[in-house]
Amino acid sequence: MHLSLTEEQTLIQETARQFAQNELAANAELLDRHEGRETFLRNLKSLADLGFMGLNVKAEYGGSEVGVVAFSAAITELARACASTAVTASVSNMVAEIIQAVGNDNQKETYLPKICGGEYAAAAFCLTESGAGSDPAAMSTTAVREGEDWLLNGTKIFVTSAEYAGIFVVWAVTDADAGKQGISCFLVEAANPGITIGKPESKMGQTGSSTNSIGFENCRVPASALLGLKGQGFKVAVGELAGGRIGIASLALGIGLAAMDYAREYLGEREQFGQKIGNFQGLQWMIADRYTELEAARLLTMKAAFEKEQGLAYATAASMAKLFSSEKANDACYSAIQILGGAGYTKELPLERMARDVRVTTIYEGTSEIQRVIISRDLLRELI
Ligand SMILES: Cc1cc2nc3c(=O)[nH]c(=O)nc-3n(C[C@H](O)[C@H](O)[C@H](O)COP(=O)(O)OP(=O)(O)OC[C@H]3O[C@@H](n4cnc5c(N)ncnc54)[C@H](O)[C@@H]3O)c2cc1C
Repeated sequence: MHLSLTEEQTLIQETARQFAQNELAANAELLDRHEGRETFLRNLKSLADLGFMGLNVKAEYGGSEVGVVAFSAAITELARACASTAVTASVSNMVAEIIQAVGNDNQKETYLPKICGGEYAAAAFCLTESGAGSDPAAMSTTAVREGEDWLLNGTKIFVTSAEYAGIFVVWAVTDADAGKQGISCFLVEAANPGITIGKPESKMGQTGSSTNSIGFENCRVPASALLGLKGQGFKVAVGELAGGRIGIASLALGIGLAAMDYAREYLGEREQFGQKIGNFQGLQWMIADRYTELEAARLLTMKAAFEKEQGLAYATAASMAKLFSSEKANDACYSAIQILGGAGYTKELPLERMARDVRVTTIYEGTSEIQRVIISRDLLRELI
């Protein structure tokens, strides 16, 4: 059993680290203040140029084809510097992987090079609705066949990157009587008429990344926009969200590590009672616990990534990684603030931004409670 990265995975990790520290870190605060949109979009293009918008996509479709472990390592490095950029990359990679997994040749050839190559700034995942969050099967957006076309009607909410994405993967009910088997998935180009993008949500964190509603009003798409088989959309959403959770676990880990690294430095600088505060055992134990938890989060995340890469069943591992990593990264950000005392609470330093940025990682792509539902369902499948 090997627990270290391969040479290629290390190269991806180092490239991501350099890009993140040289290009993203300095602008993270600017993005947090809702400024620097041009810089943000330029950075997304640079990420595409580096091959980071299709890390697990085949080279024939413009991807880097470096696998899931490298994807995870890269997202962690991006998130150490800027969570808003990291989530945009993570979601775009997830959407590209959905198209690769269930798209037909024409869809893969048409859309994957545009996502991977940066012609589209980002790609968006449109599942959640006001009445369908943790329970996406309760969605009410419909797609009705009209001749050779489909007509989409409904509203999706909380869509990451909606306002600059070039392509949306949209879930809609195609057979209201068939329950989960009545949900299908569509590829909708942003330029398609019948789409209204709502104003960005005013959020607690990750404010550099836009989160918008998308309204579909008699949005007409061709029959060829159906992604995968009719009625298989729910299965696609559930399956692909598992992969997305590896991205969010990796992202949370990056924020938690950045916060603890900041706090660790401070322990060697700040003096109280005539000595460095790193001499106080209460704080030594705090960083020992947090780094141990983050290392465990890294191993869980890498295990899930490895299992996905090997073609093994990985959904439970991905849920465990997302659950643990997001919760421990939240703890890490709060401990880091505690270590800095009053300074940690101010906007002069990046820790309060990190604490706001990390908060949503226990919520999106399935809340912690839903991860526990998935994990326990697997554990108890044959017993109850
Ligand atoms: C910044 C941001 C970006 C997002 N990006 C996207 C995106 O790109 N695409 C997209 O489709 N969605 C996106 N989402 C939506 C996100 O995935 C949902 O918010 C999330 O799945 C939770 O749904 P909800 O908000 O409706 O909460 P609800 O489902 O209403 O949950 C409310 C509470 O009830 C709990 N709960 C619900 N069901 C159970 C249960 N069975 N057992 C125990 N507890 C339960 C939840 O854990 C939670 O604590 C985003 C959300 C945010 C905040």
